Amino acid sequence: MVPSPPAAADDAEIRFLTFRDFAIRLGYFTTFVPPALALFFGHLQRDLGRRPILGLAGSTLAGLLYPVAIQIGLSRRVLPWLLFGTVSAMNVAVIWALPGLPGGVRANLWLLVFPGLISALLSMPFTLRQTALEVAGSLAVPLIARATYAQAFPLLDYYAILVPILVIFAYFKVLLNRLFHQARAQVQEIQALAVHDPLTGLDNRRAFMDTGRRLLGLAARNGHPLGLIMLDIDHFKRINDQFGHAAGDRVLCEAAQRMTQALRTTDLVARIGGEEFAMLLPDASPAALAAAAERVRQAFADAPMRLDAEALLPVTASLGTAQLTVGDTLDALLSRADQALYAAKGAGRNRVAAG
Ligand code: GH3
Ligand code: MG
Ligand code: MG
Repeated sequence: MVPSPPAAADDAEIRFLTFRDFAIRLGYFTTFVPPALALFFGHLQRDLGRRPILGLAGSTLAGLLYPVAIQIGLSRRVLPWLLFGTVSAMNVAVIWALPGLPGGVRANLWLLVFPGLISALLSMPFTLRQTALEVAGSLAVPLIARATYAQAFPLLDYYAILVPILVIFAYFKVLLNRLFHQARAQVQEIQALAVHDPLTGLDNRRAFMDTGRRLLGLAARNGHPLGLIMLDIDHFKRINDQFGHAAGDRVLCEAAQRMTQALRTTDLVARIGGEEFAMLLPDASPAALAAAAERVRQAFADAPMRLDAEALLPVTASLGTAQLTVGDTLDALLSRADQALYAAKGAGRNRVAAG
């Protein structure tokens, strides 16, 4: 096996990347459009004073900070706090602006629901706990406003609108969270299937070719030796024919284990065909390659394999090796090892031939 690829990005990071564009677009839309419409229609009805214009403009400016911050790539850890600050500032500005709009505070409470909604929706890239922080801000600011600069603020009317909406969004968010986790689990399963042989758990041919090319390029560049072993189980068809396909499968799994155990953890072992395996050994000199191939051969020949509770069967394998030379491609190396394997079969099986 070869060092595994860098650990997959954590859930929070993937959630963030999934909902990032959504949050940016919605951020711009919800901070601009509702205040602009409120001012436009308010203006049609009466000459608005400075207060609603300044208040709503301030709210829009504050609201813009969040999508801009995401877009310029501000650290993901800072964003929930920035959103909290943004939404709180929007709330403060809107509460201040409301009395100046036609119909007064009550008729325009919907404007104030927007920061609350924004916080629920825009925190989609964050975890549930972080979303709770945003929502708490929307609930607390009007409370503080009423105690200070907006003593006539109809707190209960506001909560009567906001709380039911937040409950719906909370439910929505839990559902989306579940969908997100399901989709992620499926993607991980598909990714694993794309590079692993499901029977033995070894890398499949595709993964072997990808990793193999990389290891070969590395060895060539550093002038390090590299060895390849091809292995084919002897008379495998007979095992299938005599004991059944399930027994054949068990032999393949056992074979995979014996190869892996006979080699170093930094060696790459893959199932590249039905009962054909390839092993790539970084830093293996010709002598080390021959010794490793012999170890693998013995790992088969030394002990019979268990087919089921009763049956034990001696299983052998033939191996062909090839050593990296200047200008080699992985295909060329595989082809030389394959020819050597063919020679080992011709010479009587259960042996190693060098290519
Ligand atoms: P040799 O010593 O010349 O290699 O003989 P062999 O019988 O091993 O060679 P051959 O290539 O003719 O047989 C390979 C067999 O492997 C044929 C195929 O049915 C079997 N096989 C391929 N994939 C699987 C699998 O996933 N499970 C099982 N049980 N058998 C498989
Ligand atoms: Mg074969
Ligand atoms: Mg075979």
